[in-house]
Amino acid sequence: YDIYAAPVLSQSEKLRGTVVVLHDITELKRLEKVRKDFVANVSHELKTPVTSIKGFAETLLDGAMDVAEHREEFIRIIQKESTRLEELVVDLLELSKIEQGNFNITFMAVELDQVFEEARALMAKRAEEAGIELVVDAPVGLVIAGDASRMKQIAINLITNAIMYTPAGGTVRMSAAEHAEEVEVCVVDTGVGIDPEEIPRIFERFYRVDKTRSRHSGGTGLGLAIVKHLVDAHNGQIKVESQPGEGTTFRLFFKKKTN
Ligand code: ADP
Repeated sequence: YDIYAAPVLSQSEKLRGTVVVLHDITELKRLEKVRKDFVANVSHELKTPVTSIKGFAETLLDGAMDVAEHREEFIRIIQKESTRLEELVVDLLELSKIEQGNFNITFMAVELDQVFEEARALMAKRAEEAGIELVVDAPVGLVIAGDASRMKQIAINLITNAIMYTPAGGTVRMSAAEHAEEVEVCVVDTGVGIDPEEIPRIFERFYRVDKTRSRHSGGTGLGLAIVKHLVDAHNGQIKVESQPGEGTTFRLFFKKKTN
């Protein structure tokens, strides 16, 4: 609590009483902590690739340039770390736009099979490189009220994760089904799964179940935070079911497009 106290005086300056104001700052303190943690996380996430890029560039200039195999290897690391930096900055800008309410959802009729197909085309190469079968299964003509480009972004983020956390030989399946009042969209993988107690936290910014594993595989830790915001903006719901060692299902529910 913040506490303010002030005497109340009469006209002849006699003490009549005291006013005490108790100001509950628990929520303010919590928000301030969230903000500080976020800044610390961002700084740390940005510093890691920058340090690596700087180090390898310096090593090259200090003579590694003359050794052909080092030259190639170090330049590749610089390229990889720059890509990571770029992804991080893109996700951060995206998240900050969304969190400031600085984005528009244009509610239109979105044909899910088309959105899925575009997402599949964009992710096909990555899935193939990871040795994962990417299956898309949406009935033609299934329509929801939403924003097609945002829906595609949701699909891409979920598929990216599903591929990242599924060992080679596995399957990632994206499907849609129609219920009485809503449309259900699923992204199912046969990957490493998520412990039940971790599930409530995975939508937090920068939260990772296994930090080393995730950073190693190139995640930014922001993908699901973005997904959650976009699903909320569509008045949708998102549920996660997972069986560690067997796989994970992200289940999304959206209002059907009526009329
Ligand atoms: P990241 O960029 O690290 O993947 P996300 O916000 O997209 O960040 O996801 C947060 C964390 O949730 C991940 O680090 C990972 O531990 C876990 N996770 C997300 N999707 C899956 C999945 N399909 N299978 C297993 N774990 C997952």
